[in-house]
Amino acid sequence: MNFDYTEEQQSVRKMIQDFTDKEIVPFAGQWDKEEKFPWDVVKKMSQLGIFGTAIPEEYGGGGFDNITHAIVAEELGRGCSSLRGCYSVQISLVAKTILAFGNEEQKQKYVPGLAAGKIFGCYGLTEPDSGSDAASMKTTAVQDGDYYILNGNKMWITNAGKADVAIIFAKTDKDAGARRVTAFLVDKDTPGYSTKDIHDKLGLRASNTAEIILDNCRVHKSAILGEIGKGFRVAMGALDNGRYTVAAGCVGAAQGALDAAKQYAKERIQFGKPIAGHQLVQQMIADMAVEIEAGRLLVSNHLINSYESFNIIFVSYYINVWN
Ligand SMILES: Cc1cc2nc3c(=O)[nH]c(=O)nc-3n(C[C@H](O)[C@H](O)[C@H](O)COP(=O)(O)OP(=O)(O)OC[C@H]3O[C@@H](n4cnc5c(N)ncnc54)[C@H](O)[C@@H]3O)c2cc1C
Repeated sequence: MNFDYTEEQQSVRKMIQDFTDKEIVPFAGQWDKEEKFPWDVVKKMSQLGIFGTAIPEEYGGGGFDNITHAIVAEELGRGCSSLRGCYSVQISLVAKTILAFGNEEQKQKYVPGLAAGKIFGCYGLTEPDSGSDAASMKTTAVQDGDYYILNGNKMWITNAGKADVAIIFAKTDKDAGARRVTAFLVDKDTPGYSTKDIHDKLGLRASNTAEIILDNCRVHKSAILGEIGKGFRVAMGALDNGRYTVAAGCVGAAQGALDAAKQYAKERIQFGKPIAGHQLVQQMIADMAVEIEAGRLLVSNHLINSYESFNIIFVSYYINVWN
C-alpha cells in the first residue's frame, strides 16, 4: 500500500505553502493584535480557487479529494488559525452541508458562489445559553402559511459579520428537544436578520465572530435545508465535516510552532554554540516533529506504513536541525 501524497496533492500543498509564506505568515501576528479580518487576503484566496478545492467540479470547485482539503486547511493553519477558521466554516460547515442535505436548487443557488469565494457563509448553532448541549437551543421557527418566523439569538458565529447566507438551526416545537430542530438557509438581507460583531476574543482574533439576531425573521419554506424536524442531523453532520479541517489546521499550527522553534534553536547561542547543537534541545525538536507527523497522518487517514519511517523522521530531525 502506498501512503505517499500524489503529485497532485503535493502540487496543491506547494501552491498553498507559497501563498501562506508570502501573504499570511508575515502579517498574521499583526492581524491578531489589531483584530483585523484580512479581507484583501480572503479575496486573493478566492481568486486562487482555494475555497473551491474540495468542491465537486459540477458546482464550480476544483474537484480535489478530502486529503487535499486537509492539506489546504493545514497550510492555512500553519500561517493563521483565523483564516483557517474562515475556510473551515465556508467549506466544511456550509458548502459541504448544503451539498449533503440541500436540494438541487439550493446547491445551485449557493455552492458555486461559496466555492468561488463570491459569497460567504456561516453556521449558526450555538446560542448564549446553549453550546455543548445544542439540543437545548431556544431559537424558534413558527409556521405562518408558506413561511416560518424565526426568533432567537445565535452566539459566537464565525464569519457571521461577513456572510451572505447563514445556516440557522431553530425549533419548530420548542418542547421537543433535538427531534424538532430544523435547519434553514437564511440570506443576510432577509428582514429581521441582523448581526453584531464580537470583539476582544482571547484567540482567533483575526477571525470574524459575530452574534446573529433573529427578530421575527420571515423565511420561505423553500429555505428549509434537509427535512423539517431533522435539522439536528444536519447540524451534527456539518460538525463532523468541520472537525476534519479543524484537526488539519491544528497540525498546521503545530508545524508553524516547530518551524519557529527550529529557527530559534539555530539562532540562540548558549555555552558557545547554537542551542540546536545541544542534545536535549535536539530531542525536544525531534519529539515535536514525530508528534506532528503522526497527527498529520492521523488526520489524512494516511497511516504510516512502517516503523522505519518513524525512525527515519526521528533520526533525520536530529541531524537536520543542526545542519
Ligand atoms: C472563536 C469561536 C468561534 C465559534 N464559531 C462558531 C460557529 O461558527 N458556529 C457555532 O454554532 N458556534 C460557534 N462557536 C461556539 C462553540 O461551538 C461553542 O463555544 C461550543 O459549542 C461550546 O459551547 P459553550 O461555549 O456554550 O460552552 P459550554 O457548553 O457551556 O461548555 C463550557 C465548558 O463545560 C464543559 N462541558 C460542557 N458539557 C459538559 C458535560 N456534560 N460534562 C463535562 N463537561 C462539560 C465544556 O467542555 C467546556 O469546557 C464558536 C466559539 C468560538 C469561541
